[in-house]
Amino acid sequence: MKVVFACPQCGAPAQARLDSPSDWQCAACRHPLHVHAPDPALATCRICGNHELYKKKDFPHGLGMAILVLACALSLVTYNWYEKWLTWAILIGTAAFDGVLYLLVGDAIVCYRCNAHYHGFQATTEHQPHELTIGERYRQERLRREQLKTGRP
Ligand SMILES: [Zn+2]
Ligand SMILES: [Zn+2]
Repeated sequence: MKVVFACPQCGAPAQARLDSPSDWQCAACRHPLHVHAPDPALATCRICGNHELYKKKDFPHGLGMAILVLACALSLVTYNWYEKWLTWAILIGTAAFDGVLYLLVGDAIVCYRCNAHYHGFQATTEHQPHELTIGERYRQERLRREQLKTGRP
């Protein structure tokens, strides 16, 4: 179990293990954080304390796309060889492979507020897929916070 997040103090990218009780300290600004003792259901974000979290597929970024691009390139080659059945086999096989991969990977749990990503947790009914309306609410909140910081109305 681990969490990937941005330091609440300076925004530096960071990650911490959540299995063992240990305090985290930012390598950039020395900001300390108590990230240990998570409840296995992960009802609240360990970084910012927010209770609204969503789940998304823990799919490696760009991997599915890379496979698809490769398959398209490959199918172009076979198409030029007039091997139409092979072309279709590659395209359909790739789509199926992507689908299986998608089913095999687990869920990552993500905090709406601070965008911390939790890996290795089991999603519960508390964790629903990302909802645009909630995401928008937090986006507005973030904008307001940034405006406060810069002192503009
Ligand atoms: Zn920091
Ligand atoms: Zn959070």
